[in-house]
Amino acid sequence: MSVVTYIGLGSNLGDSRQILTEAVQNLATLGQVKTSKLYESPPMGPQDQPNYLNAVVRLETDLEPLALLDELQRFENESGRVRLRRWGERTLDLDLLIYGQESIQNERLTVPHVGILERDFVVIPLLDLDAEMQLKGQVLKSLPILEHPTVTVLDNEDWAH
Ligand code: ATP
Ligand code: MG
Ligand code: MG
Repeated sequence: MSVVTYIGLGSNLGDSRQILTEAVQNLATLGQVKTSKLYESPPMGPQDQPNYLNAVVRLETDLEPLALLDELQRFENESGRVRLRRWGERTLDLDLLIYGQESIQNERLTVPHVGILERDFVVIPLLDLDAEMQLKGQVLKSLPILEHPTVTVLDNEDWAH
């Protein structure tokens, strides 16, 4: 049975636009995808790194959560991701934001992903895909962090095609 999942995409090393486009194509091998708009956002954590490109993909897939995480990490590795420092620069970050209605807590996976509600570069693209989305009892479109967004729109939902 297929499940609706949301994957957060980020990149600030290499040809980020190309890397995110390839990530969408890779995700499309796992099920049906729909992409948010494409955004640019200032870095979280260390400030001496380039701005990020960010987007969210809605993926309907038959994969179980850990099997999906395996695929996401394989795509990260194939993009040449190397671990430098926490929240540091990377070619590709693929975070499993939401997996159906499930709450998951184990050593490899926390779902819903921690920090969604504090990150406008995640919430804003999520709202592109579902304007009425709620999470942990919060109506996303009413979150205070949306009053002063730090992200800018670079392209519409067709950016990956
Ligand atoms: P953040 O998770 O705060 O956005 P990050 O994306 O930079 O930081 P990573 O280095 O990509 O962190 O991932 C570190 C670990 O997080 C991974 O090894 C993975 O097992 C774990 N993890 C826990 N929950 C999730 C999730 N929902 N999606 C992706 N990875 C997760
Ligand atoms: Mg992340
Ligand atoms: Mg990650």
